[in-house]
Amino acid sequence: MAFFYSDGTLHVGDARASVTVDSIVGALDRPAYVYDLDDIALRFHAMNNAFASARHTIHYAMKANSNAAILRHVCALGAGVDTVSGGEIARALAAGVPADRIIFSGVAKTHQEIQRALTARIKQINVESPQELQRIADIAQDLGVVADVAFRLNPNVNPKTHPYITTGFRDNKFGMDESFMPELRGILARESKWVRLRGFTMHIGSLLFDLAVIREAIEKTIAVHDTFKAEGHALDRLDIGGGLGIAYDTADTAREFEMIAQYGRMAIDVTRGMNVELLCEPGRIFVARAGVLVGRVQYIKATAQKTFAILDTGMHHLVRPALYGSKHRILPLRQGTGDSMVYDIVGPICESSDFLAKDVLLSPLKQGDLVAIADAGAYGFTMASQYNSHELPAEIAVNASGHQS
Ligand code: PLP
Repeated sequence: MAFFYSDGTLHVGDARASVTVDSIVGALDRPAYVYDLDDIALRFHAMNNAFASARHTIHYAMKANSNAAILRHVCALGAGVDTVSGGEIARALAAGVPADRIIFSGVAKTHQEIQRALTARIKQINVESPQELQRIADIAQDLGVVADVAFRLNPNVNPKTHPYITTGFRDNKFGMDESFMPELRGILARESKWVRLRGFTMHIGSLLFDLAVIREAIEKTIAVHDTFKAEGHALDRLDIGGGLGIAYDTADTAREFEMIAQYGRMAIDVTRGMNVELLCEPGRIFVARAGVLVGRVQYIKATAQKTFAILDTGMHHLVRPALYGSKHRILPLRQGTGDSMVYDIVGPICESSDFLAKDVLLSPLKQGDLVAIADAGAYGFTMASQYNSHELPAEIAVNASGHQS
């Protein structure tokens, strides 16, 4: 449930135990993200149940939200993480995620990042190019270690999501299609002392709803996996990426839980008989619903065309509306009385792209009111900036017992 209204006041928690969001952020003098750790746990349990009949590990994609309390929480739930930078690996280790539960993805791994990853003895590096594989082999040799790697396939499927978050189509910079395989085979043969191919990986994009496209991508990945296996590579892992979406325009989460269950069934079905550890890397589906961004109305400004509610938070704290045109629900912390009005919810940044929602119908807002932007737990704080030299928002994680961290 995470965030819901009771008596016209926004609460965090569930029907059994909840607190008002106002009691968490009301005294703060700056915008804040509030996260519900219990909601994240529910989703982890659902995903673990969905994969229960397979040997599997969930590698939470921490790019979605790398808050330390959330990392500790998912780690305690048994998950590992998928990282995309040396910075994320360092954050994960600092939060107590064991190195052997860390995967390192990303297209531009630097020498230093690979060196740190290998020194920390992380579980797997997901390789994005032959040059990267050669670099990994060279560094592994320098360090005298063997690097466990997976090759990221670009399966050339169209997941029908926003072009900026499509990653498995032939035009994208991510992964490698079959034309790369001869060169990869050559490097593997030459560097067999220093790199060990554990399996294949793919990730076709974010905000996905069409499981048939994910299945198609997995099937294409398995086809390449099988070829390498037949050549004698002892592959024991298959990483099916992440990407499951949430419907930002509705508070109805039942469809997401159903999708998680179907995703698990599909993955188990398609990999039946493979005898691999099944890895997945979802981010958004775990944390998007579990977070809101709360800002305070500084001014109400009405023009002949629009009524603006101008907040102390905006695109610098939550860039998704400006970057992807995404539509987040707006939840005033206290629902006002009186006839509803249409507002543009905007921020302090000196750009007209600085909006959080446009043309939303809300009960009347006034100066000083607190307003939550819903479903901001994924790709919110992690994409925040200090543009215009504003402060970053606070982050507060809560659980059912009211404990805050
Ligand atoms: N894995 C990789 C390699 C990614 O780039 C991403 C993000 O796009 C994810 C996993 C997580 O995606 P999502 O948050 O949509 O589940």
